[in-house]
Amino acid sequence: KVAGSNTPSNETLIEWDRMHQIHPWHAMDAWRGYDNMLVDTAEGIYMYDSTGKRFIDGPGGMWCTQIGYGRKDMAEAIYDQVMKLPYTSPFTSATEPSAILAKKIADMAPGDLNNVFFTTGGSTAVDTALRTMQYCNNRRGLPEKKMIIAREKGYHGSTYLAHSVTGKERDKSHFDFETRLVHFLPDVNPYRRAEGQSVEEFCDEKVADLEKAIAEIGADKIGAFIAEPILSSGGVIVPAPGYHKRTLEICRANDIFYISDEVVTGFGRLGYWFASEELFDIQPDFITSAKGLTSGYLPLGACIVSDRVMEMMSDSDEPSSFTNGYTYSAHPVSCAAALKNIEIFENEGVLEHVRAVTPHFQKRLRDLMKFKIVGDARGMGLLGCIEGKAEDLEAEKKLGSQIDEACEARGLLVRPLINMAVFSPPLIITIEQIDEMFDILEDALQEVQDNLNAA
Ligand code: PMP
Repeated sequence: KVAGSNTPSNETLIEWDRMHQIHPWHAMDAWRGYDNMLVDTAEGIYMYDSTGKRFIDGPGGMWCTQIGYGRKDMAEAIYDQVMKLPYTSPFTSATEPSAILAKKIADMAPGDLNNVFFTTGGSTAVDTALRTMQYCNNRRGLPEKKMIIAREKGYHGSTYLAHSVTGKERDKSHFDFETRLVHFLPDVNPYRRAEGQSVEEFCDEKVADLEKAIAEIGADKIGAFIAEPILSSGGVIVPAPGYHKRTLEICRANDIFYISDEVVTGFGRLGYWFASEELFDIQPDFITSAKGLTSGYLPLGACIVSDRVMEMMSDSDEPSSFTNGYTYSAHPVSCAAALKNIEIFENEGVLEHVRAVTPHFQKRLRDLMKFKIVGDARGMGLLGCIEGKAEDLEAEKKLGSQIDEACEARGLLVRPLINMAVFSPPLIITIEQIDEMFDILEDALQEVQDNLNAA
């Protein structure tokens, strides 16, 4: 910091953060004991802390920094929109960036998903999809058809409703949830299938779980099924082949809306704008999106709704407004950032780049199976996870944080999750940088393994 300036020192900033800022997901017993990293600047795929130490951004912020940091063209697009029109009410007005962005997303999204409701992030996009289902079924004269089928280990956000459909038990202590409305299906992780069971048999079982739930609850009581194409925060769980297509068919046969939560898998993470159609062969009724939509430069989310659902909602003589929305829905500056982000994707071939480097990324990821402590290495596109061998051992439980510490010391950030570590670097990562990342990981895993052996 400049000597003599009024800028507080790094130590002061860390102290103010500790004393006055409430961070998401911090442990309350350690409240005010945290020493969060003070992130100062970033460029490309690298972040620098306040001491100047460089880190590869392994988690891509939080699965979102697709085009990387430090893009002047993003800054200019944001600046230009601020000077032109920083804000107007989305309740009553249209704007150039939001109209163009809505049209672009409608063109990118599969099938008849032509209608976009802009939100402030992923949670509000999910909340909007679920409330739209409720509104629609009330309008259709089906007020009983409101249950939501969700899945264990799914993550859908932190509003009351989005968190109610989240199936990560560990994240649910001491909060209240709308339990009456939600039914959870068991874990769909093929790695955790029964011994001797084939992946195909496991898929049959998972599809049967949905059929069983529908038979028990009654299709006339179920409004929606919500699923991430790949359960991301749950540990990058890639479902068995055919799972999504078969569950979608069951939903259609039972008049249950299929919500594909693509907050992580959309916007290039798997090499396509959206994964639902291109990779999993489904045209859902809703797609929720956020994160990569602006590459994290500004907050924005989108709930994309099919024409079919829109028609059902408007097919009534009874007047009614759709009273869901936010002051910052369709924020013009966020929409301008998203448009520039999409332009960069198109001009620089980001989707093609992801598809080109994916085989190398996935190979280096799977090579990590050579470490005895790694039970599974899985992923798709630029999304990856390693999982420890046994969930029940105390040592295994700490594995994620041990890997995290060993990587951080070597200049790589990863996302620890219990006995797992997750990677989703910026999409512009080069082959050389992928090697740099996995070389560090291998070195770190060796150290963690040696330490565990010694213990
Ligand atoms: N859905 C999924 C699949 C997510 O991974 C997340 C965030 N990690 C959300 C929804 C919530 O998004 P946000 O944090 O932007 O509200």
